[in-house]
Amino acid sequence: MRGWGRVPEMFTDVDTICPFCGVGCHLVLRVHDGKVVAVYPGADDINEGKLCIKGWSAHEFIHHPKRLTSPLMRDDRSREFRAVSWDEALAFIKNRLEKVLAEEGADAVNILGSAKCTNEDNYALQKFARAVIGTPHIDHCARLCHASTVTGLAAAFGSGAMTNSINELADAEVILVIGSNTTEQHPLVGRRILRAVQEHHATLIVADPRRIDLAGEAHCYLQHRPGTDTALINGLLQVIIAEGMEDRPFIRERTEGFDEFAASLADYTPARVAEITGVPADKIIEAAHRYGRAGSAAIVYAMGITQHVSGTDNVLALANLAMATGNLGKPSTGINPLRGQNNVQGACDMGVLPDVYPGYRPVGDPSVKAFFSTAWKTDRLPGGPGLSLCEMMDAVLAQRTKWMYIMGENPALSDPDSAHVRRALETVEFLVVQDIFETDTTAYAHVVLPAASYAEKDGTFTSTERRVQLVRRAVEPIGESRPEWQVIAELARMRGYKEMNWESVGALFDEIARVTPLYGGMSHDRLAGGGLQWPCPDRDHGGTPYLHKDKFARGKGRFIPVRYNPPPELPDKDYPMVLTTGRSLFQFHTGTMTRKSPTLQAQLDEAYVEIHPDDAAGSGIDDGQEVTVASRRGRIRLAARVTETVPEKTLFIPFHFAEAAANELTLRTLDPKSKIPELKVCAVRIEL
Ligand code: SF4
Repeated sequence: MRGWGRVPEMFTDVDTICPFCGVGCHLVLRVHDGKVVAVYPGADDINEGKLCIKGWSAHEFIHHPKRLTSPLMRDDRSREFRAVSWDEALAFIKNRLEKVLAEEGADAVNILGSAKCTNEDNYALQKFARAVIGTPHIDHCARLCHASTVTGLAAAFGSGAMTNSINELADAEVILVIGSNTTEQHPLVGRRILRAVQEHHATLIVADPRRIDLAGEAHCYLQHRPGTDTALINGLLQVIIAEGMEDRPFIRERTEGFDEFAASLADYTPARVAEITGVPADKIIEAAHRYGRAGSAAIVYAMGITQHVSGTDNVLALANLAMATGNLGKPSTGINPLRGQNNVQGACDMGVLPDVYPGYRPVGDPSVKAFFSTAWKTDRLPGGPGLSLCEMMDAVLAQRTKWMYIMGENPALSDPDSAHVRRALETVEFLVVQDIFETDTTAYAHVVLPAASYAEKDGTFTSTERRVQLVRRAVEPIGESRPEWQVIAELARMRGYKEMNWESVGALFDEIARVTPLYGGMSHDRLAGGGLQWPCPDRDHGGTPYLHKDKFARGKGRFIPVRYNPPPELPDKDYPMVLTTGRSLFQFHTGTMTRKSPTLQAQLDEAYVEIHPDDAAGSGIDDGQEVTVASRRGRIRLAARVTETVPEKTLFIPFHFAEAAANELTLRTLDPKSKIPELKVCAVRIEL
């Protein structure tokens, strides 16, 4: 990881991992006099000695004057926060918890973990929820980004994670990028894709409603209508199978359900798919030929696929595409979902989900429950699955949830239909939020606990390619802030539970390895050499660069037919345009960290709405003019950006900005299979 020459004596360099996206780039934090003063890229294979602009700015928020430095409690009379001691804050939290448990039971307690926090923080939190409180209601923001990946790929393959490794993209003959603005959302993977095309002559197919930068490099660009992914992918498959491009030996030996699946494609002729998607039939056929005839083809996707009520079906359609062409179980192929946040993969692995324990073992399986009862020495474990994130907000409004603990998340801004979320946060009887800054969500809290940033704690993050990597403490926690797992362990001790008395974060990780077979052979010592990709079942195992080599995790890969269903809210005469949302290269999620960075703020510090030039001309809108965008749920005011990136009748808004929050407009209708909300398509109008 080193390679940047001698470190001057006045500095200390600490190797760690980027706190932003799921690529998992290695950073070196340069420390002087107890402060992180600069960032450098780790000179190794993961990020090839490069960082994107967010990575280069990853030190700028650490010592920001707005960091939370002591616990805060809301004064009953003034409603203002006042600084209190840890003892007072934790005693108050514990007393309110006991009261709710006595009066309402564990079902009235909801807990949210965090894709920004370490595996150790998240493991501690879900253990606290299940073993100490006995509530099944634990979830985190994976529900908003890749819940459909976990559900879909687990059904098809038995494992819901990226099948292959980032560096394998270099040798793929064909790369299909669908629903991923890779160069902005996962820049160092975008760079790999560009290098594969420019230096290794890979063929690039891009499918995206927006004409993203990668579309300009693509050999074949499919600009489909938002929300028509299932139809488009089924259309590719229909051509591939009709023309005999499927991999018959692979299908015969490695999969099941093919005949029924193939029959389900009859309706998805290029002509009909062209009608649904708006992509010309000859383009669909061309893309099918390019993908279907490749010796190795990799699929890369992100939230353009997953954040739909049809999210699971979209993922299943991609799984069908890869299985039908034999593009699984070998290098430079596979299904590669790019996870949004630094540790969203790890938070899922740790079981911060309402239906699985660590390692994706179902909560409804009595033998699994018995295993964890024994391992955690508790008889409190809840029964079946708990509520998902969006369902928790409904439960609050229905007076079923009374006590909430939110670790490092900002649902007031990140969840769909913000007005609904605000009502829930205003309603809940007791809310604890643990974070590094005040956020839109801490504004509703009764107690706010100051957390340690990534630079102030040891632990692990798991990147999108299943690589578990060491995060190292570079400086002491700011003020009185503490690593989240220590605070949770303290609350567990206060309830008299003795099985969270870890003497170190390494000992905590050893417990994770003992109860999580995917991590079974890992330890902090072993991870010091650059990380290991799960599954890594024992100490002699070197990790797994690609999954499903000889057999799928579930045995045979399963073809599951999926049908195209239109999005739940389509344009009409009152709301004649489609809104789609996403991220910018220069900001990250709800901006709690990146909006403290002068470098990133200088690049982009206000919301905007992209509108096609013809639509802008039709409404008399100039570039830069302030406009209102309204949906049935809310309205926001922001600057128009007139651009051909979006097609006609489609608007795009990045979701980072509280002052013009895209989620004021979005729908909270859920995918019935994965409970992910429809964040990518809703009907809106634009007003002057
Ligand atoms: Fe960080 Fe992602 Fe940029 Fe890498 S690509 S530096 S992980 S934000």
